Amino acid sequence: MSALSRKNFWEKTPPSVKQALGAALGVAPPTFWLGRAFREQLAFANASQRWPAAKATAWQLDRIREIVGRAIAQSPYYRRAYAAAGVDADTLNALDDVRRLPTIDKSTIREHGDDMMTVARSAPGVDYVTTGGSGGEPMGFHIGADRSAIEYAYLVAGWQRAGYDTNDVQAVFRGQVVTPDRAGLRHSYDAILRRHYYSNFHMTDENMGRYLNHLATIGDCHLHVYPSSIATLTRYLNRSNRKLPTNVRGILAGSEIVYDADRAATERATGLRYFSWYGHSEKLVLAAECEHASTYHVWPTYGYCELLDASGNPVTKPGDRGEIVGTGFINRVMPFIRYRTGDYATLADSRCDACGREHMLLTDIQGHRTQEMLICADGTEISWTAVNMHDRTFDGVRRFQFRQSLPGKATLRLVPAEGFDHSRTMAIKQSLDRKLGERIVFDVELCDEIELTHRGKTTFVDQRIPDAVREGTEARAT
Ligand SMILES: [Zn+2]
Repeated sequence: MSALSRKNFWEKTPPSVKQALGAALGVAPPTFWLGRAFREQLAFANASQRWPAAKATAWQLDRIREIVGRAIAQSPYYRRAYAAAGVDADTLNALDDVRRLPTIDKSTIREHGDDMMTVARSAPGVDYVTTGGSGGEPMGFHIGADRSAIEYAYLVAGWQRAGYDTNDVQAVFRGQVVTPDRAGLRHSYDAILRRHYYSNFHMTDENMGRYLNHLATIGDCHLHVYPSSIATLTRYLNRSNRKLPTNVRGILAGSEIVYDADRAATERATGLRYFSWYGHSEKLVLAAECEHASTYHVWPTYGYCELLDASGNPVTKPGDRGEIVGTGFINRVMPFIRYRTGDYATLADSRCDACGREHMLLTDIQGHRTQEMLICADGTEISWTAVNMHDRTFDGVRRFQFRQSLPGKATLRLVPAEGFDHSRTMAIKQSLDRKLGERIVFDVELCDEIELTHRGKTTFVDQRIPDAVREGTEARAT
């Protein structure tokens, strides 16, 4: 078994088997289990982040030429599109020439996905994944099974700036389904990866109190959280007048928008550095904060990032906003070349004065991963990010959205795609019920369309609970 699939395999192993195996195998550090590919990628990420800009640029151009060459040779879609645009790998002599390649977006993937592949869908090492995508429209695509080790190496290289190291213990609040242990605590432990999982679907005051008590017993650790999870925990710390146990060394918060006010509130309540990063399931652009600053540093060897204005021209002036357009270096089986992510950011600089890294710096990243919450009967919130399914649950559905008018209740609205088998609704409900349990009771409604916002987007949660009711519920819950 290759190193990378070892981690995938382990993550899919049932918890009961893990616990038994973990006790027996947990003597080796995680770096051993993550394997050689991980260790090599980590060393490379650590080296490349210090490259001078000219070296990174030359390396990026080489990679793009290679990807474009392979795409033209092996993918019918790119062969057609680039022939029509009159470009090939040999005409790319500088990074600016990349602008001659047409951009693609989610509709391209949806219409031409199979034609974009450079290998057969059934080839070994090819995985199919789905993402919620922008505008509530699910999107599926293919990606190499080796992606996790590579991505994880870059994440860890980022976390190292925040004092985390590969073999350190993590306390995770990130959407894992965690069943209660014998004492009724929603906690489980993965001895191989040294991760303690706590259920962020059950962030009631009582449970959060128990989580904190348990956290105090696990030794030095970093919290690995969604921004919404730590925001919920911070509000609890504040209203219960409790403190995080002193063995918590730092906070790693990613996969959702970070609001400045939430970050400040958490740093105030905990006295710890709040470290964040930006990434996405398509694995095109990764940007992580540095040791000294909370601007996002775009990692040059993970993918090529462009920031484009509404006319498709590059944003060059610090302070201006644009759409994040990515060309991924990781996915070799289905190249994403100049993919419009639907995420927007402000250009900060091309170099960080605090750390000296010569990367594109971004701030205020926002987009389709907008914070969207379901409200439980007791006023606690469940983040959409935690509910979202990254498997085939929403295959066959064009759009989907929760509509909520009362705490603890919601309606899941589905717009079936062509050929949708109506028996799928029950399977979808069961999948989501596993995550939401009895905390949100929901029914499923098939509909013809989900209204777009004035910006042409839908939200995953059409939240109709009036603020006054939300505040009242929260007050009762505290
Ligand atoms: Zn920096």
